[in-house]
Amino acid sequence: MTEAREIRSLIDDVTARLETVSDTPRLEADLLVARAINMPRSYLFAHPDDELDDDALERLDGEVRRRLDGEPLAYIAGFKEFWSLELMVTPATLVPRPETERVVEIALNDIPRDRHTAVLDLGTGSGAIACAIAWERRMAHVTGVDISAAAVAVAEQNARQLDLDNLRFVEGSWTEPVRDLEYAVVVSNPPYVAADDCALKMLRREPVTALVPPGDELSAIRAVVDEAPRVLAPDGVLVFEHGADQAERVAALLAEAGWQAVEQFRDYAGLPRVTRARLEPV
Ligand code: GLN
Repeated sequence: MTEAREIRSLIDDVTARLETVSDTPRLEADLLVARAINMPRSYLFAHPDDELDDDALERLDGEVRRRLDGEPLAYIAGFKEFWSLELMVTPATLVPRPETERVVEIALNDIPRDRHTAVLDLGTGSGAIACAIAWERRMAHVTGVDISAAAVAVAEQNARQLDLDNLRFVEGSWTEPVRDLEYAVVVSNPPYVAADDCALKMLRREPVTALVPPGDELSAIRAVVDEAPRVLAPDGVLVFEHGADQAERVAALLAEAGWQAVEQFRDYAGLPRVTRARLEPV
Protein backbone atom coordinates (compact mmCIF):
# COMPACT_ATOMS: atom_id res chain seq x y z
CA MET A 1 0.00 0.00 0.00
CA THR A 2 1.19 3.52 -0.68
CA GLU A 3 1.15 6.47 1.71
CA ALA A 4 -2.15 7.73 0.35
CA ARG A 5 -5.04 8.08 2.77
CA GLU A 6 -7.44 10.29 0.84
CA ILE A 7 -10.37 8.60 -0.83
CA ARG A 8 -9.53 10.13 -4.21
CA SER A 9 -5.93 8.95 -4.36
CA LEU A 10 -6.73 5.59 -2.78
CA ILE A 11 -9.22 4.90 -5.55
CA ASP A 12 -6.52 5.72 -8.12
CA ASP A 13 -4.01 3.44 -6.40
CA VAL A 14 -6.39 0.52 -6.05
CA THR A 15 -7.57 0.93 -9.64
CA ALA A 16 -3.97 0.62 -10.84
CA ARG A 17 -3.37 -2.45 -8.65
CA LEU A 18 -6.49 -4.21 -9.93
CA GLU A 19 -5.81 -3.65 -13.61
CA THR A 20 -4.22 -7.08 -14.06
CA VAL A 21 -7.13 -9.02 -12.53
CA SER A 22 -10.23 -7.03 -13.44
CA ASP A 23 -11.98 -5.75 -16.56
CA THR A 24 -13.59 -3.06 -14.42
CA PRO A 25 -10.81 -2.00 -12.02
CA ARG A 26 -12.18 1.47 -11.31
CA LEU A 27 -15.61 0.16 -10.38
CA GLU A 28 -14.10 -2.50 -8.14
CA ALA A 29 -11.75 0.06 -6.55
CA ASP A 30 -14.76 2.22 -5.69
CA LEU A 31 -16.61 -0.71 -4.20
CA LEU A 32 -13.63 -1.82 -2.10
CA VAL A 33 -12.89 1.68 -0.76
CA ALA A 34 -16.58 2.14 0.05
CA ARG A 35 -16.56 -1.21 1.88
CA ALA A 36 -13.49 -0.23 3.89
CA ILE A 37 -15.29 2.81 5.32
CA ASN A 38 -18.65 1.06 5.43
CA MET A 39 -20.35 3.69 3.30
CA PRO A 40 -22.31 3.54 0.05
CA ARG A 41 -20.42 4.17 -3.16
CA SER A 42 -22.12 7.54 -3.62
CA TYR A 43 -20.35 8.80 -0.48
CA LEU A 44 -17.00 8.60 -2.28
CA PHE A 45 -17.93 11.19 -4.90
CA ALA A 46 -19.24 13.63 -2.32
CA HIS A 47 -16.22 13.26 -0.01
CA PRO A 48 -13.11 12.70 -2.16
CA ASP A 49 -10.85 14.40 0.42
CA ASP A 50 -11.85 12.28 3.41
CA GLU A 51 -8.97 10.30 4.83
CA LEU A 52 -9.13 6.65 5.85
CA ASP A 53 -7.94 5.71 9.34
CA ASP A 54 -5.46 2.89 9.93
CA ASP A 55 -8.13 0.24 10.45
CA ALA A 56 -9.93 1.16 7.25
CA LEU A 57 -6.64 1.20 5.33
CA GLU A 58 -5.82 -2.25 6.65
CA ARG A 59 -9.24 -3.63 5.70
CA LEU A 60 -8.87 -2.16 2.23
CA ASP A 61 -5.41 -3.59 1.70
CA GLY A 62 -6.54 -7.03 2.90
CA GLU A 63 -9.43 -7.11 0.47
CA VAL A 64 -7.35 -5.77 -2.43
CA ARG A 65 -4.87 -8.59 -1.79
CA ARG A 66 -7.66 -11.18 -1.83
CA ARG A 67 -8.89 -9.73 -5.11
CA LEU A 68 -5.36 -9.80 -6.58
CA ASP A 69 -5.18 -13.43 -5.52
CA GLY A 70 -8.08 -14.16 -7.87
CA GLU A 71 -11.01 -14.07 -5.48
CA PRO A 72 -14.06 -12.56 -7.22
CA LEU A 73 -15.33 -9.33 -5.67
CA ALA A 74 -18.70 -11.02 -5.18
CA TYR A 75 -17.17 -13.53 -2.75
CA ILE A 76 -15.36 -10.77 -0.85
CA ALA A 77 -18.56 -8.73 -0.61
CA GLY A 78 -20.76 -11.82 -0.10
CA PHE A 79 -23.32 -10.70 -2.65
CA LYS A 80 -23.84 -10.01 -6.32
CA GLU A 81 -26.52 -8.07 -8.10
CA PHE A 82 -28.52 -10.13 -10.59
CA TRP A 83 -31.70 -8.94 -12.30
CA SER A 84 -31.51 -5.92 -9.94
CA LEU A 85 -31.83 -8.31 -6.98
CA GLU A 86 -29.14 -8.52 -4.35
CA LEU A 87 -28.18 -12.19 -4.15
CA MET A 88 -26.00 -13.78 -1.52
CA VAL A 89 -23.13 -15.75 -3.05
CA THR A 90 -20.47 -17.91 -1.45
CA PRO A 91 -17.67 -20.01 -2.95
CA ALA A 92 -20.23 -22.86 -3.01
CA THR A 93 -21.88 -21.29 -6.06
CA LEU A 94 -20.88 -19.56 -9.28
CA VAL A 95 -21.03 -15.79 -9.26
CA PRO A 96 -24.17 -14.98 -11.30
CA ARG A 97 -23.24 -13.52 -14.72
CA PRO A 98 -25.05 -10.73 -16.55
CA GLU A 99 -25.48 -12.96 -19.63
CA THR A 100 -27.53 -15.37 -17.55
CA GLU A 101 -30.14 -12.61 -17.21
CA ARG A 102 -30.92 -13.43 -20.87
CA VAL A 103 -32.18 -16.87 -19.75
CA VAL A 104 -34.57 -15.10 -17.37
CA GLU A 105 -35.67 -12.60 -20.02
CA ILE A 106 -36.41 -15.29 -22.59
CA ALA A 107 -38.12 -17.68 -20.18
CA LEU A 108 -40.41 -14.90 -18.90
CA ASN A 109 -42.02 -14.74 -22.36
CA ASP A 110 -43.38 -18.24 -21.72
CA ILE A 111 -44.61 -17.53 -18.19
CA PRO A 112 -47.85 -15.53 -18.04
CA ARG A 113 -48.33 -13.08 -15.18
CA ASP A 114 -51.88 -14.11 -14.45
CA ARG A 115 -51.73 -17.90 -14.49
CA HIS A 116 -50.17 -20.57 -12.30
CA THR A 117 -47.17 -21.91 -14.19
CA ALA A 118 -44.78 -24.57 -12.94
CA VAL A 119 -41.14 -23.73 -13.68
CA LEU A 120 -38.08 -25.91 -13.05
CA ASP A 121 -34.48 -24.63 -12.83
CA LEU A 122 -31.92 -27.43 -13.28
CA GLY A 123 -28.57 -26.77 -11.59
CA THR A 124 -29.85 -23.69 -9.82
CA GLY A 125 -26.66 -22.82 -7.91
CA SER A 126 -27.25 -19.59 -5.96
CA GLY A 127 -30.85 -19.72 -7.23
CA ALA A 128 -30.28 -16.64 -9.39
CA ILE A 129 -32.50 -17.66 -12.33
CA ALA A 130 -35.15 -19.21 -10.07
CA CYS A 131 -35.31 -16.15 -7.78
CA ALA A 132 -35.53 -13.70 -10.70
CA ILE A 133 -38.39 -15.66 -12.30
CA ALA A 134 -40.23 -16.09 -9.00
CA TRP A 135 -39.77 -12.36 -8.35
CA GLU A 136 -41.19 -11.34 -11.74
CA ARG A 137 -44.01 -13.89 -11.84
CA ARG A 138 -45.69 -14.12 -8.45
CA MET A 139 -48.21 -16.70 -9.74
CA ALA A 140 -45.51 -19.03 -11.01
CA HIS A 141 -44.33 -21.93 -8.86
CA VAL A 142 -40.61 -22.28 -9.28
CA THR A 143 -38.51 -25.27 -8.23
CA GLY A 144 -34.71 -25.16 -8.29
CA VAL A 145 -32.69 -28.36 -8.19
CA ASP A 146 -28.98 -28.64 -7.49
CA ILE A 147 -26.75 -31.60 -6.75
CA SER A 148 -24.81 -29.51 -4.21
CA ALA A 149 -26.35 -29.27 -0.74
CA ALA A 150 -24.24 -26.17 -0.08
CA ALA A 151 -25.66 -24.48 -3.19
CA VAL A 152 -29.22 -25.37 -2.16
CA ALA A 153 -28.59 -23.75 1.23
CA VAL A 154 -27.43 -20.52 -0.47
CA ALA A 155 -30.42 -20.57 -2.84
CA GLU A 156 -32.83 -21.08 0.07
CA GLN A 157 -31.32 -18.16 1.90
CA ASN A 158 -31.76 -15.98 -1.20
CA ALA A 159 -35.43 -16.94 -1.46
CA ARG A 160 -35.89 -16.06 2.23
CA GLN A 161 -34.03 -12.79 1.92
CA LEU A 162 -36.20 -11.76 -1.02
CA ASP A 163 -39.30 -12.91 0.86
CA LEU A 164 -40.35 -15.15 -2.02
CA ASP A 165 -42.82 -17.88 -1.14
CA ASN A 166 -43.44 -19.16 -4.67
CA LEU A 167 -40.24 -21.12 -5.00
CA ARG A 168 -38.52 -24.04 -3.33
CA PHE A 169 -35.19 -25.74 -3.71
CA VAL A 170 -34.34 -29.43 -3.63
CA GLU A 171 -31.09 -31.32 -3.67
CA GLY A 172 -30.60 -33.91 -6.39
CA SER A 173 -29.25 -34.77 -9.81
CA TRP A 174 -31.10 -32.94 -12.61
CA THR A 175 -34.74 -34.11 -12.74
CA GLU A 176 -34.27 -37.04 -10.36
CA PRO A 177 -36.01 -35.41 -7.32
CA VAL A 178 -38.99 -34.14 -9.36
CA ARG A 179 -39.74 -37.06 -11.68
CA ASP A 180 -43.42 -37.34 -10.78
CA LEU A 181 -44.12 -33.65 -11.47
CA GLU A 182 -44.88 -31.72 -14.64
CA TYR A 183 -43.52 -28.33 -15.63
CA ALA A 184 -44.48 -25.85 -18.35
CA VAL A 185 -40.99 -24.35 -18.50
CA VAL A 186 -37.57 -25.83 -17.74
CA VAL A 187 -34.60 -23.44 -17.48
CA SER A 188 -30.94 -24.16 -16.89
CA ASN A 189 -27.46 -22.72 -16.81
CA PRO A 190 -25.54 -26.00 -16.70
CA PRO A 191 -21.76 -26.35 -16.59
CA TYR A 192 -20.45 -26.08 -20.15
CA VAL A 193 -16.80 -25.02 -19.97
CA ALA A 194 -14.27 -27.45 -21.51
CA ALA A 195 -11.81 -28.93 -18.99
CA ASP A 196 -8.86 -27.52 -20.97
CA ASP A 197 -10.31 -24.01 -21.47
CA CYS A 198 -7.63 -21.48 -20.53
CA ALA A 199 -10.32 -19.14 -19.14
CA LEU A 200 -10.58 -21.52 -16.17
CA LYS A 201 -7.45 -20.00 -14.69
CA MET A 202 -9.36 -16.75 -14.14
CA LEU A 203 -12.30 -18.71 -12.68
CA ARG A 204 -10.25 -20.86 -10.32
CA ARG A 205 -12.00 -19.62 -7.17
CA GLU A 206 -15.42 -20.67 -8.41
CA PRO A 207 -16.67 -24.24 -7.93
CA VAL A 208 -15.27 -26.25 -10.83
CA THR A 209 -18.26 -28.62 -10.83
CA ALA A 210 -20.49 -25.64 -11.66
CA LEU A 211 -18.29 -24.73 -14.64
CA VAL A 212 -16.91 -27.97 -16.09
CA PRO A 213 -19.23 -30.93 -16.72
CA PRO A 214 -18.09 -34.46 -15.83
CA GLY A 215 -17.75 -35.71 -19.43
CA ASP A 216 -17.04 -33.63 -22.52
CA GLU A 217 -18.04 -29.96 -22.52
CA LEU A 218 -21.59 -30.76 -23.72
CA SER A 219 -22.28 -33.63 -21.33
CA ALA A 220 -24.36 -31.59 -18.86
CA ILE A 221 -26.30 -29.93 -21.69
CA ARG A 222 -27.01 -33.41 -23.06
CA ALA A 223 -28.26 -34.49 -19.63
CA VAL A 224 -30.62 -31.49 -19.50
CA VAL A 225 -31.85 -32.08 -23.07
CA ASP A 226 -32.35 -35.82 -22.38
CA GLU A 227 -34.02 -35.40 -19.00
CA ALA A 228 -36.24 -32.35 -19.57
CA PRO A 229 -38.86 -34.29 -21.61
CA ARG A 230 -39.52 -36.53 -18.59
CA VAL A 231 -40.88 -33.60 -16.61
CA LEU A 232 -42.11 -31.20 -19.31
CA ALA A 233 -45.78 -30.75 -20.19
CA PRO A 234 -46.54 -31.72 -23.82
CA ASP A 235 -46.29 -28.12 -25.03
CA GLY A 236 -43.52 -27.24 -22.57
CA VAL A 237 -40.42 -25.23 -23.40
CA LEU A 238 -36.78 -25.53 -22.47
CA VAL A 239 -34.53 -22.44 -22.18
CA PHE A 240 -30.86 -22.82 -21.35
CA GLU A 241 -27.47 -21.14 -21.49
CA HIS A 242 -24.45 -22.55 -23.32
CA GLY A 243 -21.03 -21.52 -24.56
CA ALA A 244 -20.94 -18.96 -27.37
CA ASP A 245 -19.12 -21.45 -29.62
CA GLN A 246 -21.56 -24.27 -28.82
CA ALA A 247 -24.71 -22.83 -30.45
CA GLU A 248 -24.54 -24.93 -33.63
CA ARG A 249 -23.78 -28.16 -31.81
CA VAL A 250 -26.58 -27.45 -29.33
CA ALA A 251 -29.08 -26.83 -32.15
CA ALA A 252 -28.03 -30.09 -33.87
CA LEU A 253 -28.36 -32.02 -30.63
CA LEU A 254 -31.88 -30.69 -30.06
CA ALA A 255 -32.98 -31.40 -33.64
CA GLU A 256 -31.67 -34.93 -33.38
CA ALA A 257 -33.62 -35.48 -30.16
CA GLY A 258 -36.82 -34.29 -31.88
CA TRP A 259 -37.19 -30.86 -30.25
CA GLN A 260 -39.21 -28.28 -32.18
CA ALA A 261 -38.98 -24.56 -32.88
CA VAL A 262 -35.34 -24.24 -31.85
CA GLU A 263 -34.44 -20.55 -31.42
CA GLN A 264 -31.13 -19.05 -30.37
CA PHE A 265 -30.48 -15.73 -28.70
CA ARG A 266 -27.45 -13.51 -28.33
CA ASP A 267 -26.08 -12.24 -25.04
CA TYR A 268 -25.25 -8.58 -24.36
CA ALA A 269 -21.87 -9.11 -26.04
CA GLY A 270 -23.64 -10.21 -29.24
CA LEU A 271 -22.67 -13.88 -28.84
CA PRO A 272 -25.15 -16.76 -29.27
CA ARG A 273 -25.58 -17.80 -25.65
CA VAL A 274 -29.14 -19.00 -25.00
CA THR A 275 -31.31 -21.58 -26.78
CA ARG A 276 -35.05 -22.14 -26.49
CA ALA A 277 -36.88 -25.20 -27.80
CA ARG A 278 -40.36 -26.66 -27.60
CA LEU A 279 -41.01 -30.28 -26.83
CA GLU A 280 -43.74 -30.90 -29.39
CA PRO A 281 -45.25 -28.94 -32.28
CA VAL A 282 -48.22 -26.79 -31.24
N1 GLN B 1 -20.56 -18.15 -18.36
C1 GLN B 1 -19.64 -18.76 -17.43
C2 GLN B 1 -18.23 -18.37 -17.82
O1 GLN B 1 -17.75 -18.76 -18.85
C3 GLN B 1 -19.79 -20.25 -17.39
C4 GLN B 1 -21.05 -20.63 -16.75
C5 GLN B 1 -21.35 -22.07 -16.91
O2 GLN B 1 -20.49 -22.93 -17.09
N2 GLN B 1 -22.58 -22.36 -16.86
O3 GLN B 1 -17.62 -17.63 -17.11
